[in-house]
Amino acid sequence: MSLIADEIVRFSSVLRISYNLLTGRDYLKRKKFREKKKLISVALPFSDLVYGFPNLVPVFPIRTHAFKMHKYLTYLGSASSIFGWENVSNFLGFVKNLGIGDVSKIIDEIIDNVIDTVNDKYNEMYDLGIESGVPTDFCYGIKSLYGMHVSKGKNYDANLNYTIRCSAWNKYLESLKTIENPAKQVWIDIPPRNIGNASELLTENLYDAIRELEKISGNSFDRTILRNHFQVANDIRNFYKTILYEISTSDFYPCNPATFSEILVILNNSFQDYNSNANRYRDNMASLVKEMKERIRNKIGMDVSNMPRILITPMFGGWEPKSHELIYELGGRALYADWDILLFLEDIPINKISDPVEAYAQYLMNATTNGIGCDNDALSDSYMRVAKKINADGLIFFQLFGCHSVSNCFSMLKEKIRRELEIPSISLTFNKIGENVEQVKTRLGAFMEMFR
Ligand code: SF4
Repeated sequence: MSLIADEIVRFSSVLRISYNLLTGRDYLKRKKFREKKKLISVALPFSDLVYGFPNLVPVFPIRTHAFKMHKYLTYLGSASSIFGWENVSNFLGFVKNLGIGDVSKIIDEIIDNVIDTVNDKYNEMYDLGIESGVPTDFCYGIKSLYGMHVSKGKNYDANLNYTIRCSAWNKYLESLKTIENPAKQVWIDIPPRNIGNASELLTENLYDAIRELEKISGNSFDRTILRNHFQVANDIRNFYKTILYEISTSDFYPCNPATFSEILVILNNSFQDYNSNANRYRDNMASLVKEMKERIRNKIGMDVSNMPRILITPMFGGWEPKSHELIYELGGRALYADWDILLFLEDIPINKISDPVEAYAQYLMNATTNGIGCDNDALSDSYMRVAKKINADGLIFFQLFGCHSVSNCFSMLKEKIRRELEIPSISLTFNKIGENVEQVKTRLGAFMEMFR
């Protein structure tokens, strides 16, 4: 891990995003108790509507938890407020270069925690979900989310529930009201197909939810605020896509490929609520792209031209995080692009549609019809689209225990890959993080042999 830590420590933007991700608990407590803001829980990248109300704060539930390295991250945060993140990052890199034992070890521990602590928390919440009676045949992601609500659900003023075409997901959302001290449920039904008046219906459903959010917020809805937020959200999406398609496809990386994968994982986690502050997140994404490009321009990083690009997906319902490290050790570079596969990185079309709510309805309808929705044909086309865009040399598909929706599309996808891309692909089964690492190692070893 220290190789990954060594690299990440030099990206001040990654430190900032990681810090904001892992210290969400203090940030959110401050918002709730001092600034009297209301917390709205969201899952998947469905936070945008909440940003239409300045006194509502969207939160992906894992961020209300305390993480075990909190104390060091707090020191780092205090140092950054005095010296600035860039100086803290330069200092950490300097200390690591000196190789001072204890200090260097602490830095490794901080960064290792960014990497491991979220996954440990996921597993802890998964266990809590099971102990609390979540049906055992749900996927890993749902079980962990359920555990997060059992543990911290009382802190939210509302749960914003978007129905998607996965029946297990919708059942899970229904079950939230049976948890002790349930938060208010605000529902947005997304019609499963874009036929007839589906878009108008979705726009109405969004307006119904806005009226509910107005009651929680105590403020009237203001279209201009939402429109301005969507501009920020689109900037974030464009920075994300620059990293995915411009930087990840280049022959020279700004860091080693394992670090690059790690950054993609951090982005995948933090994109769901933009770390509860979209403007700050947009600024950090802008610096991340700038830092990456500067490093490439100055030839700081690694020539990866001979390393096959391996697309690993899906990860949003659970996947084995050791995979990218293993692929790196086996000579490849692992890429994660779930949010674009599911079409959450498309622009919200505010330049074409004047009503921001209608524009958002169109964005959601597109994601449901061609991405997150569980139409196997459309979804496998979306996997193909992204595999082509990143010039994937191979594809690894995680089939989740308990997933009868997304996981089912692998056989169709495999056939399309064989016909159109002629690259190797495999599926790996997944139940819980860390449970099957040896088997994953063996399968990946055999898979990567094909590129020798
Ligand atoms: S589609 Fe699969 S992975 Fe996603 S929530 Fe439904 S069961 Fe879980």
